[in-house]
Amino acid sequence: MCMQAVIFKEKGQMALVEKPEPGLIDEKDAIVRVTLSSICQSDIHIKHGNVPRAVPGVTVGHEFVGVVEQVGSGVQKLRPGMRVAANVETFCGECFFCKRGFVNNCTHQHGGWALGCRIDGGQAPLVRVPFADNGLTPIPEGISDEKALFTGDILATGYWAAGLGEISPADTVAVIGAGPTGMCTLMSCRLYSPGLLIAIDTNEDRLKLAKEKGLADVTLNPLTQDVEQEVKALTQGRGADTVMVVAGAKGTFELAWRIARPNAVVCVVALYDEPQILPLPDMYGKNLTFKTGGVDGNKCEQILKLIEMGRLDPSFLITHRYGLKDAMAAYDLFEKKEDGVIKVALVP
Ligand SMILES: [Zn+2]
Ligand SMILES: [Zn+2]
Repeated sequence: MCMQAVIFKEKGQMALVEKPEPGLIDEKDAIVRVTLSSICQSDIHIKHGNVPRAVPGVTVGHEFVGVVEQVGSGVQKLRPGMRVAANVETFCGECFFCKRGFVNNCTHQHGGWALGCRIDGGQAPLVRVPFADNGLTPIPEGISDEKALFTGDILATGYWAAGLGEISPADTVAVIGAGPTGMCTLMSCRLYSPGLLIAIDTNEDRLKLAKEKGLADVTLNPLTQDVEQEVKALTQGRGADTVMVVAGAKGTFELAWRIARPNAVVCVVALYDEPQILPLPDMYGKNLTFKTGGVDGNKCEQILKLIEMGRLDPSFLITHRYGLKDAMAAYDLFEKKEDGVIKVALVP
């Protein structure tokens, strides 16, 4: 049987093609019927050839929800018919790093970002998910696909970032970048009851939305404001207790350590295209703690619980919906950031 799928054809080009439906390969695999998937900024990075590991011809899509259709004999937690959210990371659960929760650094040959990069992903009606007990999380009853869609990727990232921040109640937290992952970071920081949550971005519409949705108490725009001065003014001259950098744009790394108070935690979640400068003489005595890296996506169960309780709800990020047959138009809109798009949902 054949199905339609969005593939990374070659550098600069995605394509909608006919592909054979996937089947089980390993006993720990599951086959999932995708009910909703998203386009992620990482898919655009793949399109432009900026993800060297991405295999030409691979079906893209690493953020999706669906229903388990079939499981291998080694799958323990999942059964056909269960609704599940997919995890961007494939991890074995048994290696040195997995056992310590650092699943991003799983040393299994199939570990890491595999789905929609090295192996076929979820921008298709059916997808094979390896290590299914780790890579899929059951969705509690009553949670819509739109609420659950971002659990395994951008929300996992925001939730993980907030956890790194060592945020205490009443702290001032600044988040640089109010794109989809920035929004997820803001809503996850809210779980730690900060006293003041500051969103920083150059896009006024996104700042306005962050404020409207209660994700930020204050918004600052570097194009029109002296952000360093403003943050100091809001904190009796000290600076923010925790700074999150979610946007890898020029100048954001420098801004991050500048607006941090002495002894602050600075979390660099952003993916930079270029090396960044750490000017140690300028920050000597500031005694900052830097934390960097990519998400350890092993908290999907907690995230879904918080969605169930109404403490997290990223569904407003979906501004546009397309059928899979119109996926190329969806890519076009998402890449050009037209029509106020934040996230696009694809319905297979
Ligand atoms: Zn992604
Ligand atoms: Zn592992």
